[in-house]
Amino acid sequence: MTRTGFYPGSFDPVTYGHLDIITRAARLFDKLVVAVGRNHDKTGLLDVDTRLQVLEAALAPIRERVDCDIQLARYSILTVDAAKAAGAVAIVRGLRDGGDFTYEVRMAQTNAALNDTIETVFLAASPAARMISSSLIRQIAEMGGDIGQFVPMEAAEAVKAALARDAAP
Ligand code: ADP
Repeated sequence: MTRTGFYPGSFDPVTYGHLDIITRAARLFDKLVVAVGRNHDKTGLLDVDTRLQVLEAALAPIRERVDCDIQLARYSILTVDAAKAAGAVAIVRGLRDGGDFTYEVRMAQTNAALNDTIETVFLAASPAARMISSSLIRQIAEMGGDIGQFVPMEAAEAVKAALARDAAP
């Protein structure tokens, strides 16, 4: 039986923190669906097509290293419904700190109330990636800072292009 995990997120942009979770989750499942969804609390910078293109490029070296079928998807329905449609047994989420814990446990309990056949699995952020968040990356880039140490090259380029586009008259 193929065990499928479902890793949902905004990935705006994907960071080394996300890639760390993907690499580690890929060791737990036969198949991992990394899915770009819409977070109603967040305003986006990159469009979903760009987020997926950046993810595709960033996943290439990981796919070579792990024995897991990593697929990309997008969804605009409930996360549990998207996970179920993907045939997943579990939703994967990352935990960085107490703020994540409070939010993520609430989400997991809500998702379990909506569909108790899909478990949520939490992976603790690796120490080196713990402080990275996409929102912080967007803020640093907006202020002209170098985000190269936090995100893969394709992500840094896409963020730069999106900011230049937004700044154009
Ligand atoms: P969402 O809008 O769904 O929170 P994000 O792309 O911000 O989407 O995050 C997706 C998941 O990845 C969340 O579970 C988040 O806690 C986790 N995550 C984000 N950054 C990191 C990181 N640096 N280390 C570990 N997990 C992370």
